[in-house]
Amino acid sequence: MTEKVIPIRVEQSAPVVDPAWDGRPPRDVRARPLRDLRISVTDRCNFRCVYCMPREVFGADYAFLPHAAILSFEEIARVARIFVGLGVRKIRLTGGEPLVRKDVHKLIALLAPLGTDLTLTTNGSALARLAPSLKDAGLQRITVSLDSLDDATFRRMNDADVPVERVLKGIEAAAAAGLAPLKINMVVKRGTNDHQIVDMARHWRGTGHVVRFIEYMDVGSTNGWRMDDVVPSADVVRRIDEQFPLEPAEASHPGEVAERWRYRDGGGEIGVISSVTQAFCRDCNRMRLSTEGALFTCLFATEGHDLKSLLRGGASDEAIRDRIAAVWSRREDGYSEIRTAETARLRKVEMSYIGG
Ligand code: SAM
Ligand code: SF4
Ligand code: SF4
Repeated sequence: MTEKVIPIRVEQSAPVVDPAWDGRPPRDVRARPLRDLRISVTDRCNFRCVYCMPREVFGADYAFLPHAAILSFEEIARVARIFVGLGVRKIRLTGGEPLVRKDVHKLIALLAPLGTDLTLTTNGSALARLAPSLKDAGLQRITVSLDSLDDATFRRMNDADVPVERVLKGIEAAAAAGLAPLKINMVVKRGTNDHQIVDMARHWRGTGHVVRFIEYMDVGSTNGWRMDDVVPSADVVRRIDEQFPLEPAEASHPGEVAERWRYRDGGGEIGVISSVTQAFCRDCNRMRLSTEGALFTCLFATEGHDLKSLLRGGASDEAIRDRIAAVWSRREDGYSEIRTAETARLRKVEMSYIGG
């Protein structure tokens, strides 16, 4: 039987009694505000992307979380409301694959009235069917992952034999449902799909959708990451610029992870996410809520902070709020600033569990 990769150590209770929240938007040790909440709604996925859930580890006997362990929609919505009270202005649903969680549109309907920017990241494989219900429930925007337009390369990367056509139809359906303009995420892995960089740029130019080229990261501890596999964003920009001249564009908001580049001929824009070659920890304002209700203050965390026992133990909203504020105020994270080949081998939380 495959060894279960998680659970990562989850601190069961705060080391000190949580101080009461002082009413000001919490800031961490490095004075970064808490603005962005990413919620993993499932640790399951119908893909086995080689850089995220390699099949050798996430095989048929892999022990995913049992239903009783995962937060209900009502529990998630309660936590999200408390986060909004603390200053969170953006919520992203992710996973695993969020669209494999049954009736996820019902969660969206619970979150939409909170008034934040509300979005979701998906592999797009179920989008053709679900896009209208997501939009009707109140989803505002959507990000679709698409690593290649070449069917053979795409199937090799998702390792689940899903054809690229299915995701392209999903993108079309999302746009038709009113979720446009979309963001399209491409993780670039050297020797695997980097030959597709310019094709992707060409295909989506002029559509209004924004392709974001993501540096392959050492998330978790199972994807066999090596620095040699990373194509630096500067290279991506250079390769596209040679075909379609680019110029830098202003960040649209503070803490934006993607660096924006605009086509000089008015064909729209691209983004590059350079978490390996150009750390953006200094402005990182994101907290993650795992599928089973633990808080993670960094994508590369080796430890989470339990919230579920408060949620299921009858704690008041105030006590939950104080816990969240205390966890944030103790946060010092800046993993991408200190990444080395050695840190890459640390036993970090898996991305499919914590949410990308
Ligand atoms: N299943 C959904 C999807 O693929 O869009 C949502 C979850 S996925 C973990 C979120 C994002 O993380 C995706 O865009 C995916 O491509 C990206 N990702 C996963 N593993 C990565 C890695 N090792 N390096 C960089 N990005 C990664
Ligand atoms: Fe699934 Fe998304 Fe990870 Fe691919 S990147 S295996 S689609 S969770
Ligand atoms: Fe934020 Fe951690 Fe990523 Fe730095 S490494 S940007 S602190 S999630």
